[in-house]
Amino acid sequence: MSVNSVKGEVDVQRLPTDAEEYSYCGWLFKYTKSHILHSLCTTSEQCKTHPESQCLLCLFTNCLNLPHLPEMVFPRNILTIIHPNGGKIEFNTLDALKKVCNGKLSLQVACSQEWQESRSSEHLEQKIKPFDWTFSTDYRGTLSQDAVVQSTEDKIDIEMLKRKDKILFYHEMMLYEDELHDNGISSCTIKIRVMPSSFFILHRFFLRVDGVMGIYK
Ligand SMILES: [Zn+2]
Repeated sequence: MSVNSVKGEVDVQRLPTDAEEYSYCGWLFKYTKSHILHSLCTTSEQCKTHPESQCLLCLFTNCLNLPHLPEMVFPRNILTIIHPNGGKIEFNTLDALKKVCNGKLSLQVACSQEWQESRSSEHLEQKIKPFDWTFSTDYRGTLSQDAVVQSTEDKIDIEMLKRKDKILFYHEMMLYEDELHDNGISSCTIKIRVMPSSFFILHRFFLRVDGVMGIYK
């Protein structure tokens, strides 16, 4: 078994980046991790004239075109798993947020009269914008072109996961989080656990909205 800490790759924003990788049975598991996304662009002229080298904030803002980004976004938090034959699955924040419904929302938000009256008009405006302000995502990872998805009847073997197998490699990190203007919480996290017999990835989107009910139609 070998665990190698590697130095962060070149970081466009000169932020310190943690990175670690672990290989087992021909598979490679690795992550990079860094700071929260800044809320202000300090190089706006350059970002406009040279979009190819724009800052991460401008990249996220321009790519996603959401009315606003979640309060906490970790643009450099990336988990990558590479198959011995080269196929790759990656979990990254930008692709997770690309799956947030924007401009074509079919979620109808119902809320009580008291709830509406207790919220400012700014909050109400947020609610009726046609984007999913809960940042709900059904992201399932980003696959390389040579990775093939096949449907299966197999289920996750819960009994196997419950076994106290040795954990060879473990990491957990947040991709983004938002407190929904103090109306609840929405968070998107990723965890990996590598054991001698298997590995397990949990990509979790968690949402709690206080006093609001969402009805999908
Ligand atoms: Zn910028």
